[in-house]
Amino acid sequence: MSDKPLRSAPSRRSLLTGLLAAPALAATVQPGTAQAEGPRWTPQQAQAALKDAKGTKLVLLGTGAGPGVGQSRNMTSHVMLSNGAAYVLDCGMGVTNQFARTGIPFRALKSIFITHHHADHNIEYGPLLVVGWIHALPLDVRAFGPPPLKQMTEDFMRAYKQTVDFWAEDFRMKPLTSVNVQEISAAGPVTQDDNVKVSAILVEHPPVKPALGYRFDFKDRSIAFSGDTAPLEAVAEMAKGADVLVHETMYVPALETTLRAAIARGGWPMTFDVFMAHMKADHTPSEDVGRIAQEAGVKTLVLSHLTPPIDSIDDETWRAPVAKYFKGEIIVGKDLMVV
Ligand SMILES: [Zn+2]
Ligand SMILES: [Zn+2]
Repeated sequence: MSDKPLRSAPSRRSLLTGLLAAPALAATVQPGTAQAEGPRWTPQQAQAALKDAKGTKLVLLGTGAGPGVGQSRNMTSHVMLSNGAAYVLDCGMGVTNQFARTGIPFRALKSIFITHHHADHNIEYGPLLVVGWIHALPLDVRAFGPPPLKQMTEDFMRAYKQTVDFWAEDFRMKPLTSVNVQEISAAGPVTQDDNVKVSAILVEHPPVKPALGYRFDFKDRSIAFSGDTAPLEAVAEMAKGADVLVHETMYVPALETTLRAAIARGGWPMTFDVFMAHMKADHTPSEDVGRIAQEAGVKTLVLSHLTPPIDSIDDETWRAPVAKYFKGEIIVGKDLMVV
């Protein structure tokens, strides 16, 4: 009696079905464009888009607002790739895995920027450093962000010193012991290297102070980030003439519905009014995102840090209230999308 194979070979019929399905997939999912459907791109799509890239690219690593867990969209993080150098903006949970999925090597990571100290933007900053280090992250990686980033970095490195030392000894690696941190408390120039000039603005995100927006002027492309903020003139000014503006986006009708449902389930620790007051003081409704982008005159507006971060809102619903005011290209952010 012969052994049965564990897995049967594909039948001619299933092979044919696969072949027939392929062109349809290719027609709806085009790496490097904003056409892919669903809440995220696959790592293969992102890698293909980066491989074919000419010039500076932005990858949206996480596009969900807030500390949502168990959802399709990761917490906020981005990476910009220019001339072989990688720049990470924000480190929400998931940043390390998402970075790896782009295929960008950790040794390319030059600098990390943090917009503000909410957990959905900084919780995986330390883990990115330590896990990145074992994957050849340069020891001279730099970090930028609001105070107390220096203290936070030192405290984290102290907490993980023994952990890092075990691998350093075992694998004869130079341990990651400290990170060159530059704190930012005011608007103005932040840093400059061969690829990029970075500047920051102060945004409105009470009670978080300071909370920052950033602009990256690469040689071939400028990319501005609102960070988390209430609608703000300073964001439009910062983004004036930029190629790309990544703006946080809150779709209020869906937020209210989702919030009422969560409260009804007993799964929400605060009242509707308290939470909505926070959201209105701290975040930007879709229509205002459109107004700000139009005033800034950017070519492309990327909607990200999407509130509520749920999958059931389709792209057109995200886009429509923004498009009433902004006449340029609108991209609804998806995790691993390359822009
Ligand atoms: Zn946030
Ligand atoms: Zn925030």
